[in-house]
Amino acid sequence: MVRVGVLGGTFDPVHNGHLAVAETVFHALHLQRILFVPAGEPPHKTSRRITPIAHRVQMVSLAIADRPEFALSLIDVARPGPHYSVDTVRLARQAHQASKDDCFFVTGADALIDLPDWHLPQQLLSLCRLAVAHRPGYQPDIAALSRRLPLLPERIVWVEMPGIPISATAVRAGVKRKQSIAGVVPAAVADYIAAQNLYR
Ligand code: ATP
Ligand code: MG
Repeated sequence: MVRVGVLGGTFDPVHNGHLAVAETVFHALHLQRILFVPAGEPPHKTSRRITPIAHRVQMVSLAIADRPEFALSLIDVARPGPHYSVDTVRLARQAHQASKDDCFFVTGADALIDLPDWHLPQQLLSLCRLAVAHRPGYQPDIAALSRRLPLLPERIVWVEMPGIPISATAVRAGVKRKQSIAGVVPAAVADYIAAQNLYR
C-alpha cells in the first residue's frame, strides 16, 4: 500500500510552482510518491495550441530527474481520451495499490473552482482525497462549492504554503518576449526550451 499524490496538468511547461506544490504536499501529507500526470493530446482544437506531448513529457522528466519520489506517469498519455480525472485516479490507485484515503489528487485553488464542472466530481471525491494549494489570485468559495459537492468538506485538505506566483502561461509569454525564465523553471527545463526553440 502506497500513499500517493496525483498531480495532473498540461505541464506546458512544468515549472517551479508545480515542483513547490509537489514538494509541500509530499511532506505535509507524508506521501511516498507524487505522480506527475501530463494531460494527453487534446482531441479537438482548443483556444490555443498545446505543445506536443513528447516535449511536455520530456520537460517533466528533466524537472523531476533528481527526485526519486517524484515520478512521471503516462497513464493519461497511453490511453485514448477523453481523459477524466476520475479515471486517472482509478488507474493510479490500481497501479500503486493506494486506498481512497491514501490517494490525493493535487490541485491549485484555480482548479478547485472548476471542480463542479468536471466529469463526475462527486465520484472523484469518493475515490480519492483532494489536496489543494493556494494560488495567488484565486479565492474559492468553499461554502458555494460544497453546496454543489456535498463530499467536498470531508475530502479536501488545504496545503499550507505561500502562494507561488508562477504559471505556465507566464512562462510561455516570457519566453516569447525573450525574457529570462531562470528561477521560474528548473535549469534543465529552461535549457530544453531554448534548445528546442519552444514558445517562440
Ligand atoms: P497554464 O497557465 O497553462 O494553465 P499552469 O501553470 O496553470 O499552466 P497546469 O499544468 O495547468 O499549470 O497546472 C496543473 C496543476 O498545477 C493545476 O492543478 C494547477 O492549479 C496547479 N498549479 C500550477 N501552478 C501552480 C502554482 N503556482 N500554485 C499552485 N498550484 C499550481
Ligand atoms: Mg492551469
